[in-house]
Amino acid sequence: MVEKCPQCKSGLKNVIFDVGFGVNVESLHCQKCGFNITEDSKLNNAMSSLREQMAKEVKVIRVGTGLGIRFPNEVVKSFSLKQGGEVTLKPEEGGIKLVVGS
Ligand SMILES: [Zn+2]
Repeated sequence: MVEKCPQCKSGLKNVIFDVGFGVNVESLHCQKCGFNITEDSKLNNAMSSLREQMAKEVKVIRVGTGLGIRFPNEVVKSFSLKQGGEVTLKPEEGGIKLVVGS
């Protein structure tokens, strides 16, 4: 099955993306204009296994006079976390959601 790029009508190439944590997503890529098509189901599967891989227990540590948590390096990389950057804590049913950026 050879599909054509909806933008430039070139042939699309099957590529495997490494989205990190050993999770791959199969996708169609146009080498000419860079257009990408990824099936929703494949993307959703990859995102849920990515979330599972990222779920991690971290220790609460002392930071100055308060408490903090240390982010695992993979998470720092994936979310481009920086010292001085801001995250938002959102209480949710069953826990606290940490949102990066605004
Ligand atoms: Zn194209």
